[in-house]
Amino acid sequence: MQVETKKIVVLGTGGTIAGKAAAAGDNIGYVAGQVRVQDLLAGVPGLAQAAQGPLDFEQVAQIDSKNMEFGVWAALAQRCHEHLQDDSVRAVVITHGTDTLEETAWFLHSVLDARKPVLLTCAMRPATAIAPDGPQNLLDAMAVAHAPGARGVLVVCAGAVHGARQVQKVHPYRVDAFSSGEGGPLGWVEEGRVRLAQDWPQAQAGWAQGALEKVASGASWPRVEIVMNYAGACGATVDALVRDGVQGLVVAATGNGTLHHALQAALERAQQAGVAVRVTTRCPLGQVLSLPWAHAALPLSPGLIPVKARVSLLLELLGASAPTL
Ligand code: ASP
Repeated sequence: MQVETKKIVVLGTGGTIAGKAAAAGDNIGYVAGQVRVQDLLAGVPGLAQAAQGPLDFEQVAQIDSKNMEFGVWAALAQRCHEHLQDDSVRAVVITHGTDTLEETAWFLHSVLDARKPVLLTCAMRPATAIAPDGPQNLLDAMAVAHAPGARGVLVVCAGAVHGARQVQKVHPYRVDAFSSGEGGPLGWVEEGRVRLAQDWPQAQAGWAQGALEKVASGASWPRVEIVMNYAGACGATVDALVRDGVQGLVVAATGNGTLHHALQAALERAQQAGVAVRVTTRCPLGQVLSLPWAHAALPLSPGLIPVKARVSLLLELLGASAPTL
C-alpha cells in the first residue's frame, strides 16, 4: 500500500464546531469559538487514519462567524494561498461557523487559485453536545481531501459536498443546514467515500487575486451595504447611506429584479453620485433574467445571492476586473 506523505492543514476560525455549552443537552445556548483547533482534532476518533498522512493545524481566528471581519478573511486567504503553493500540502480544511460560511466560501473562491481542495467545514451543534456533528464533518472533509480530482473551494456539511457558488445556509437549527438550491450538492460523503453527482468545479485562478494583494499592501476595504425591496420600501435608507459615504450598494430586489419606484429612484440617484449599484433578487432560487427591452439603469449581479454579490462588489471596488462565475 502506498503511504501518503502529503499533509492536510486544518485552519481553525471558531464557530459552533468549536463551541461550548454549560450543559450537554443544550444545543443552542452555547458560546461559539471556544475549543482550540488542536483539541477539536484530538477529539475525533479515527481522524489520523482518515487524514492518511501528516495533519497540521493553525488557529487563524477564534470567533463566532456572525462577527466575521475583513481582517480575518485576509489572514485566512493569505494562509490558504501559502499552503496551496506548498507542494507538501494535499488540501486545506477550514473549521468555520455556519452563519457566514457561504460568504467566506465565495470570498475564498474569488481570491484563490484553488487547484487543490480548500474545504470549509462546520457544525450546527457545539462540541459539548450529546451528539455533536463536527467530528463527522471533519472526517468527511478528510474523505473529500482524498477524493480523486477534488479541487476548488468546497463546503462539507452533513454528508454533502457543496460548491462555493451555490451553497447557502437555509436552516437556523437543523444539522443539515446547507443547500445548493436547484442544482443540488456536488456529491455526498458516505462511509469515507465520495459519491459525486456533478463534476468538481472548474479549475480557476481566482478572478480577484489582485484585490487581495491590494489589501495586503494597505488598501482599505470599501464600504458596501445591502438594501432590500419590500412593500412600502422608500429611498430614505439609500439616501442616508450615500450621505454616509457608502461606495457600493447591493439591492435584494423582489422577483425578477423589481424595485419599488421610490427605492429605484434613490438607487439611481446613488449611482449618479458615483456609488456602484448591483441588483440581485431576494428569491432564494433561480436568478434574475434581464429584460431585453429594459434599459439597464441599474446593473445586475446575475446568479449570486445578495451576500455573495456584496463580496464580488467589494472585490471589484478593490480593483478586481470582473467576476467569472
Ligand atoms: N453563530 C455560529 C457561527 O456562525 C453558528 C454556527 O457555527 O453554527 O459561528
